[in-house]
Amino acid sequence: MKKTFKELCELFGDVEDTRSRLDMTSLMSGFLGQCSLYDIQIISYLIQGRVAPMFVNSEFNYSEKSMINLIEGYSKSNQSRGEISKLREELGDIGDAVSQMSEGLKKKVQKRSISDVYELLWDIVNTTGSGSVGRKGNMIMDFILTSSEIEAKYFSRIVCGSLRLGLHSKTMMDVFSYMVIKDKSLSEEFNRVYGISADIGYVASLLDSFEENKVKKNISNLTVTPGFPILARLVERVGSFKEVLKRLGGEILVQPKFDGLRLQIHKFKKEDLLNREVIWQKFLVEKNDEVSLFGGSKEENVIVKLFTRNLEDVTDMFPEVVEEARSIEGINSFILDSEVLGWDYTKDTFLSYQKTMQRKRKYDVDTIKENIPVRAMIFDLLYLNGKDLTTMDTVKRIERMEKLFGREEGSIKVAQTVRVKKTKELKEIFDDYVNNKGLEGVIVKQLVGGYKAGARNYEWIKLKKSMESGLVDTVDCVVVGYNYGSGRRAQLGMGALLGAIYNEENNTYDAICKIGTGISDELFKKIHQVLKPFIVSSIPKNVVVNDLLKPDVWVVPKFIITVDADEVTRDIGKDENGVGNGLSLRFPRLVEWDRDTGLESITTVRDLITIFELNHS
Ligand code: ATP
Repeated sequence: MKKTFKELCELFGDVEDTRSRLDMTSLMSGFLGQCSLYDIQIISYLIQGRVAPMFVNSEFNYSEKSMINLIEGYSKSNQSRGEISKLREELGDIGDAVSQMSEGLKKKVQKRSISDVYELLWDIVNTTGSGSVGRKGNMIMDFILTSSEIEAKYFSRIVCGSLRLGLHSKTMMDVFSYMVIKDKSLSEEFNRVYGISADIGYVASLLDSFEENKVKKNISNLTVTPGFPILARLVERVGSFKEVLKRLGGEILVQPKFDGLRLQIHKFKKEDLLNREVIWQKFLVEKNDEVSLFGGSKEENVIVKLFTRNLEDVTDMFPEVVEEARSIEGINSFILDSEVLGWDYTKDTFLSYQKTMQRKRKYDVDTIKENIPVRAMIFDLLYLNGKDLTTMDTVKRIERMEKLFGREEGSIKVAQTVRVKKTKELKEIFDDYVNNKGLEGVIVKQLVGGYKAGARNYEWIKLKKSMESGLVDTVDCVVVGYNYGSGRRAQLGMGALLGAIYNEENNTYDAICKIGTGISDELFKKIHQVLKPFIVSSIPKNVVVNDLLKPDVWVVPKFIITVDADEVTRDIGKDENGVGNGLSLRFPRLVEWDRDTGLESITTVRDLITIFELNHS
C-alpha cells in the first residue's frame, strides 16, 4: 500500500521526538521499507527540506513573513481572527503556528500521495518572476485549506526553509544499509558514494530492489563525475605541533591555510557528462533557454562550473576563474579543490575574508570584479582527463597538480606544498606563514591515502594561530539573541551577542557565551540592523539557554560568527549534562561576523569537548 503524505508527516513528528540515532534509523528504515523506490528518493530530499540536492538551484524563495501575511490576509477576508504572527512569536515555529491556525480555517481535507506533494513543491519552486509571491501564496493556501493540521505544519516548514528534523545524511546512510543487509556494515560504502555524488536522492536510487549484490555493484561502480560537485574533505585539529608528526608518521605535507571561500573548480566537455538518472531533472524548468543546468551557452562544448563547500553553484560569481580554467590548454577535464580569495595583484597578496565575501553575490558582478579581483589557490586535484583520482595518494595528486597547473600569473595558482620531517621545521613554516605572511595557519596532510569526500579524520589537520593565544581552534557559533548593554553600547542598540553551538545528541542549539569584545561600534550598528527582521518574542524552537545567559532579545538561529577565547571552561559535576554540557568560553572575542558556512557546520558540543580536552592535555 502506498504511503500518504500525512503518514510521512507523522513519521517526521516521531523522528523529531526521538533522541537516539539508532531509534531514528529503525523508524526511518521501517517506513521506507514500505515505500516505492521513487518515494524513497523523494523522501530523501524532503528530509533535507528540499526537492533536489543543494547544487541544483531549486529554492522555494518564500519567507516566514510571506507565510504570515498570507494567512493573516486570508483570515481577515474570512472574518476569522488573524493571530498568526502572535502564534508564531509564542510558539517559536512557523509550522506549529500554521498548524494551529489551520485548525480554525474552513476546509475539505484531501488525501495526498507523497509524489503529489513533491510535484506541488516543484510548482512552487518553478513559480518565479513578477507577482510570484502571490501565485505561490495561492498554491500554499489551497494546500493548507485542504489538508490536515500535521500536513500543514510540515508543508509550511518545508516551504519556508525551516524544516530542521535533526536527521543527518550520516543517519540516512545507516538507514540505507539497514534496508539492504539489516545492519550498518554498508554505511561506510554509502557514505563514500554520498561523498562523491553529494546527492542523497541519487544514492537512494542505487538501492534498486534492495538485493545485496545488485546494490553492492551499483555503489562500487560509482565514480566522481565532473559537473556534479563532491563533498569537501574536512580537517581535524590537534593540541600541539608535536602531535602532528606523531599521528602522521615520519614525513608530512604542509600547505598554507587560506581564509577565503572553499571552491571546487570543474572543467569538462559536454560529451563527458554521464547521463545520470536523476528525478529532479524532469522537474527543472530552465530559467533561460540558452542555459542548461551544467552548461554555459548551448553552443559551448567546454563547460566550467564552480561550487562552494555548501555545494552552492557560484559559477557566475567568479568569471575570471571560469575564464582562466577555460584557457588552460591540453587538459580536457579536471576537478580542482581550492580556496578563492580577494587578491591585490599589485602587491601580490590576498585580501581579508570580509573583502572576499563581497564577491559572493549574484548582481553587479562585473563592477565588483574590477574593485575586488580574486585568485583561486588550488591545493588538490581530484579528477583528470576522464579519470577519478580520489583513490590516488595525496602526495601523488599534489605532484600531478603542480606539474600540470604550475603557473605564476592569473586567477588560478598552485598553493605551495612543503615536505617536512621534523616538528621544528613545521613550526618554522607555521611561524613564517602566520607572522610574516599574515595567514591563518597551515594545513598538514598525510602523504598516503585518497581524497575521502566529506570525511573528517587525522589525515588532514589544521594548525591555527589561535593555538598560540589559547584555543587549538576558533569556535563557530550561531547567534540566538543579544543584550541591550549599557552606556554607549545601549545607544548602539546592543552590547553583546549570545552565541550557541550545536548539540547533536538533542538536536538543539545550546547557548554557551555572550560576546561583546572584538566588535567595533560600526559593526554593532550593522549587526543590529541585520538582525532586526529575525527578532522573535520568545525563545526560538530548538534553542536552549540557561538562566544566567538569558538575552534581552531573541533572534532566529541563522547568523554564524567565529569566536576566539582564552580557554574553554567546563562546569564538571554541576552542569556537565546540562545546556551545552556545561561548556563555556573564557574571554570570548569576535573574529568574524556572518561566516558563510551554514548551520550544519557550526561547532558542535562534541567539537568543543575535543578542544577543551586538547587544551587540557
Ligand atoms: P571546520 O572544517 O572544522 O568546520 P571551519 O569551516 O571553520 O572548520 P577551518 O577551521 O577554517 O574551517 O579549516 C578548514 C578550511 O580551511 C577548509 O574547509 C578550507 O576551506 C580551508 N583551507 C584553506 N587552505 C587549505 C588547504 N591548503 N587545504 C585544505 N583546506 C584549506
